Amino acid sequence: MTEKIKEEFPVLQQDVYGKPLIYLDNAATTQKPISVLNAVDNYYRCLNSNVHRGVHRLSILATEAYEHARMSIQQFINAPNAHEIVFTRGTTESINLVANGFANTILKQNDEVIVSTMEHHSNIVPWQLAVEKCGAKLKVISINEIGEIDMECYQNLFSEKTKIVAVTHVSNVLGTINPIKKMIEIAHAHQVPILIDGAQGIKSTKVDVQDLDCDFYCFSGHKIYAPMGIGVLYGKEKYLEQLPPYQGGGEMIQNVSFEKTTFNSLPFKFEAGTPNVGGAIGLEAAIDFMLKIGRENLLTHDKALLDYAQTKMQEIDEIRFIGQAREKAAVVSFLLGTAHPADVGTLLDTMGIAVRTGHHCAEPLMNRYQISGTVRASFAIYNTKTEIDKLVEALKKTNRILS
Ligand code: PLP
Repeated sequence: MTEKIKEEFPVLQQDVYGKPLIYLDNAATTQKPISVLNAVDNYYRCLNSNVHRGVHRLSILATEAYEHARMSIQQFINAPNAHEIVFTRGTTESINLVANGFANTILKQNDEVIVSTMEHHSNIVPWQLAVEKCGAKLKVISINEIGEIDMECYQNLFSEKTKIVAVTHVSNVLGTINPIKKMIEIAHAHQVPILIDGAQGIKSTKVDVQDLDCDFYCFSGHKIYAPMGIGVLYGKEKYLEQLPPYQGGGEMIQNVSFEKTTFNSLPFKFEAGTPNVGGAIGLEAAIDFMLKIGRENLLTHDKALLDYAQTKMQEIDEIRFIGQAREKAAVVSFLLGTAHPADVGTLLDTMGIAVRTGHHCAEPLMNRYQISGTVRASFAIYNTKTEIDKLVEALKKTNRILS
């Protein structure tokens, strides 16, 4: 099945340095199937027009397509209402929108925001900016050696000053799938709202925001086979209503005068300016692509590749895995002896294998393990066990060269 699926990805049909490309950098971004490329192409060829404000035919069609995409996303994550789906540029912008809103309305001096040690910089820096602005504080949940959240520490961090928890669903470095349902329950037991950074979770789990009962869920299209520059903020209506607009401009207003501006209803209050209509349509096509394969099949495939990779890589004595949580997504971070991750990545590249190296935008996590970076292989639906065999062979060769 995978070989057939791979044929749907034009970018994967190329050689690099005379070797067939093996793309294992899927936690950074996934490749795009032809159905997504066609949907975006078709939008610009046949529908391109500005949305919501035109009376002409193209504008009506573009608006319908854009709002249809919103409804597909609503269904995909089982959000109660389409107006709780805000289009953004991606996870980073979604988190900034919420953090900024909290800084401007809710957070006060000495208040507290809880994040975890394994956060991506996108779920640290916006909160740092927010707390600095208000004289509030960040509280950090520790993790254990295998890369799991310390739940006791989490429970103990709450106080009457806690105003929000912001935690990742799945670590982009460790692959840990956090027990977010439990974490959400605990936050709610303290009457504290919780934001989930779903940049990796949206691909690695079946997200149902009503079942989770999270207050905010953020993700980027490009990590699930959609174009870059489009993402989603899901927020419960009661919180989205409470938060002020993130940016001012067209689309987000009801009436403007020099004396007073009133704001548009949800979700448009948060969508200032011309939106990425083509991106939203591409995201809808990516969701259709995933649903056609089936969510369960996608997850089973990821799990099979993860198990296979972890087992095969153990053939190499010099490999040290970073992150061995019991619940893991298809992300394998490791070190090869004392070799610098960048050297390993560069040698693998000459063999046609694309992996990620470095701190993966998670420097506090690197500090936790007292390392400067890792090599990371992450898998998607078009990857195969044969590719993992090639990765392991290439790692053996790299190890011989570097030691
Ligand atoms: N959060 C996590 C866990 C991520 O892995 C990433 C990207 O790698 C982000 C946030 C930021 O996503 P984006 O750059 O698409 O906004």
